[in-house]
Amino acid sequence: MKALRFGLQARFLVGMGLTLAVVFALLALVLQRQSMMQREVDGLAREAMQGMAADALSRRGEAMVEQLADSLTNPLYFSDLDTIGITVRAASRQPDVAYVLVYDSGGNIVHDGTYDIAAYGQPMTDPLARAAANSDHLLTQWSQRVVDVSEAISIGNERIGGVRVGYSLADIRASEERAAGNLNSRLQELGRRHMGWFVLLLATLAAVCVAIAWYVQRTLVKPIRQLADAANAIGVGNYDAKRLVSARQDEVGDLVRAFSDMNDSIARHDRDVRRMAYTDALTGLTNRLAFRESLDHRLMMLRGAGRQLALLFADIDDFKRVNDTLGHEAGDEVLVQFANRIRGAVERMGGDEALLARFGGDEFVILIQNGDVRAAATQLAEALVKELGQPLVVEGRQVFLGTSIGITLFPEDASGATALMKNGDIAMYQAKVAGKNCYRFYSRAMDQAVERRVHMEQELRGAWERGELSLVYQPILSLADNRIVGAEALLRWQHPDLGSIAPSVFIDVAEQSGLIESIGPRVLRAACMAASHWPVDPITQEAPFVAVNVSPRQLRSGDLPEEVASCLRDTGLPASRLHLELTETAVISDEAHASALLAKLHRTGVKVWLDDFGTGFSGLSHLRRVPVDGVKIDRSFIADMQRDPDDLALTTAIIAMAHSLGITVVAEGVEKEAQFDILRARGCDLAQGYWMGYPMSASEFEQLLV
Ligand code: C2E
Ligand code: MG
Ligand code: MG
Repeated sequence: MKALRFGLQARFLVGMGLTLAVVFALLALVLQRQSMMQREVDGLAREAMQGMAADALSRRGEAMVEQLADSLTNPLYFSDLDTIGITVRAASRQPDVAYVLVYDSGGNIVHDGTYDIAAYGQPMTDPLARAAANSDHLLTQWSQRVVDVSEAISIGNERIGGVRVGYSLADIRASEERAAGNLNSRLQELGRRHMGWFVLLLATLAAVCVAIAWYVQRTLVKPIRQLADAANAIGVGNYDAKRLVSARQDEVGDLVRAFSDMNDSIARHDRDVRRMAYTDALTGLTNRLAFRESLDHRLMMLRGAGRQLALLFADIDDFKRVNDTLGHEAGDEVLVQFANRIRGAVERMGGDEALLARFGGDEFVILIQNGDVRAAATQLAEALVKELGQPLVVEGRQVFLGTSIGITLFPEDASGATALMKNGDIAMYQAKVAGKNCYRFYSRAMDQAVERRVHMEQELRGAWERGELSLVYQPILSLADNRIVGAEALLRWQHPDLGSIAPSVFIDVAEQSGLIESIGPRVLRAACMAASHWPVDPITQEAPFVAVNVSPRQLRSGDLPEEVASCLRDTGLPASRLHLELTETAVISDEAHASALLAKLHRTGVKVWLDDFGTGFSGLSHLRRVPVDGVKIDRSFIADMQRDPDDLALTTAIIAMAHSLGITVVAEGVEKEAQFDILRARGCDLAQGYWMGYPMSASEFEQLLV
């Protein structure tokens, strides 16, 4: 949690604080204005009171002084001090009167109301005296303590003196002060009351703020924080964190519920995606990706512990044939059954930590790490080869398949996952080379075998140009009259260093590298050329045909009919004397395309045979749909014919079936006279094999003909 972040709540609190501060400032301003007003009101009130009092005082004074001046004119003129004294004392008794002075024209005191008149004849010395003495009319003067009202006393135009009355301001000031004080305390009382209200207002405002903050925190900030935490958890892939629930019937409640639903759905998707990413959809086994991850992980753990591990790479032999001949659905069914058998074997013998994965296609990988892994791997491999060799029933048919297994050990063979997998693959490939349906442990020598294969491919490129490739011809006889009716052209490779290389080896390399697409047409041309020189049989008036093997790749490329036509044209060989041998799988894997192509070839007069017949799964029914002229029964059937009644039955069935369709039957690999005899008895048309003749050079074959 980032506590110091300027989040929603912090912002909200700051907003509240600012609002409070503004309210505070406004209140302070109002209070300040109020106290200023109080002072102003106080001043104005004082002024008004002073003005009023002074006004009243000076009017009273002026009236009294005028009256005094009148009544004192004669006594002053006659210096009648007694009368003056009586008048002055009467005036002195009036309220607020501080003094009454009668003075002569020189400004000297005539009477001050006292009986002994101690100041008689003395000049007036107070600060207001001069102005009063000099004034010849009614004069009102203000000092700090008194209001002095004076009037000159004259007879005719002659001034004989004047009278002054001083009113004490002390009383007035005191009552003024009292009134102002009163007012002030009332104002202050008012201010306090206002202040109280303000404080109450502020407190209420603050309380409202706190309440809103609490409410916002509870209803908005807290759920949003929880959502953010939950979203973070989802972000790091943790979908199982506590599920958020809300019973609220508002927008936040909706949001929380929607979020929880979203979390559930993401979790579900994640599980699905994981399952899909890590399992093989067809068999439900671990897939390559998951296996690879697991292998990396285990290798890391084992490396420290000094323990061993074995990887078994199992590949179904010739699985492609199942797909090609029985269709992909049957292929899938075969894979599922295979997977189940392997799973059973691994569960029984692989130990707790065994891991089985399908690597795509027909490849399965098994990891075992229990006990003596070499012994365990051997045992498991033996069991697998045996069990997987048992026939499968797919779509009501029995399918025989084998498995080749390559085994590699950690840490003997390699320490990295990639190298181990490569080794396993190499060992598996060697098991295939060794004849399939068996297992092989990886050895360093196998690397060399792979290298040799790569080397061979390089050598094969350009071998024709260097004259290393040549054709030999193996005679084909008619069983009925023991005559040579044709020959099969077979390719040979004589390498300057490696010597003669078996076609089963280099044809495979040529197939896989695509080199066969350039070699095949040359073979065709050379064979046609050779056959065009073969002499006509004096009895039958026919020259022997030449049978040329055509690779499935040549068939797929599509320009075979044109190539055949151009070879025939250039060499002058009649079309009827050229036979093309296609493998069963090549024809059947793409029946529509092959049928069209075969029909095209047929129109030129060329004959087409199915080679190695019986090894695929095409069954005899396919023969009806594909326009072929002959089938060559695979030599494995011929070899076992005498021992295995099944093979004999099949051979017999093929012959009968082919004949019913008007198709020629050729038997391959006839090595013994007995085989020859059996085939003849069953009505087989043609035969080829070591018993009649080994493959030989073109010239040797020609000599045989004459
Ligand atoms: P294939 O077309 O079935 O050829 C017959 C094979 O059986 C030849 O092996 C031949 O020597 C062998 N053979 C003949 N009689 C006997 C016998 O009595 N006993 C035994 N055990 N074998 C016998 P080869 O020449 O080694 O050829 C192997 C395969 O290589 C051929 O099988 C064919 O599929 C392929 N091949 C050969 N030449 C060519 C070619 O020019 N083009 C293509 N595409 N494939 C070729
Ligand atoms: Mg052949
Ligand atoms: Mg063959």
